[in-house]
Amino acid sequence: MSQVIRRLLWISSYSAAITVSACVSMSGRDSCIRTLARAGTSLADSRQDAGATVWQTQEMHRLNLGDFELSVFSDGTYPLDGGAFFGVIPKVMWSKKVAADERNYVTAGLNSLLIRTGKHTVLVETGMGNKLSDRMKKFYAQPAKLLENLSAAGVAPEDIDIVINSHLHFDHCGWNTVRDWNGNIVPTFPRAKYYAPEGEWQYARKPSERDAISYIPENYDPLVASGQMTLLKGGEEIVPGISVKTFRGHTASMQGIIVRGGQNPHFSQKQGEVGHPRDSSFVPTACYISDLIPTTAHIDVTWGMGFDLYPLDTIDSKKEYYARALPEKWLTVFTHDPNVPWAYIEKDESGKMVAKEAE
Ligand SMILES: [Zn+2]
Repeated sequence: MSQVIRRLLWISSYSAAITVSACVSMSGRDSCIRTLARAGTSLADSRQDAGATVWQTQEMHRLNLGDFELSVFSDGTYPLDGGAFFGVIPKVMWSKKVAADERNYVTAGLNSLLIRTGKHTVLVETGMGNKLSDRMKKFYAQPAKLLENLSAAGVAPEDIDIVINSHLHFDHCGWNTVRDWNGNIVPTFPRAKYYAPEGEWQYARKPSERDAISYIPENYDPLVASGQMTLLKGGEEIVPGISVKTFRGHTASMQGIIVRGGQNPHFSQKQGEVGHPRDSSFVPTACYISDLIPTTAHIDVTWGMGFDLYPLDTIDSKKEYYARALPEKWLTVFTHDPNVPWAYIEKDESGKMVAKEAE
């Protein structure tokens, strides 16, 4: 058994995912499908077994952004207290947008963005992962679907060249690392260069009592120690077309990931049909805005999360983001929306923010 396959076997505890992962790393998607057929199942079945809903598939959530290809992959969904999710917004208002269960939990998504630039395969955010403590699992259920969903689309951990974390809360960098057979923490994406905000890492070493539970050092400390994770000041271009920008509010140093796809006449023409500019200076742009605007229900500037450490700065940062993103028609990627992973945000005639779905 090759090292690659051995590695994949212990990464996942789900038999369907093991089969998919292993065969992808052996000889590609075709043999993968054949192997699954022999095992008496189909690729579609394996997705269903893994709890993946249709929208998580590459067919449903993939688009070309200029020369780049973007796809959304989910680590699953998890229950989150609705009051905490919407901060000071009264339930009579937020419950019109999002349904809560009898315990007041709403469903939150865990969306990662995969960018294929032609030269690099870049993964933005790595979900919740599979290393939660038993106590944390009681609250968050630990769906741990990201590797399965990547595998189902033919993406193996070894394919990822670059991993970018917007910040270091456990639900954004959980799959950065996994435990091996011996209990040692190792990188999930062995070939990848990892990036995260330096201010986040500094803060995570001595977090406040309020949000200390959100930081799990195993997700990043071993990568920083080995030199596999590079810490960012904010404003850096990581590869041509992919840069980061600090948006203070949720934390002091959270960064949005801005993707500029280059000029592609086909894209401009296609997007022009739904009101997007066709002029030659148009550069199709997307932004993974992370917890500054976690879902489409949070697009109003005053609808921040209770988790935000600096709620007034969240408002300022949203205004700063919209001042660019609206006139330039940026595609906004939502980290926690279980239904709409990306959309164009616009202002309607009454000045209200509306999310216009990209697909
Ligand atoms: Zn967060």
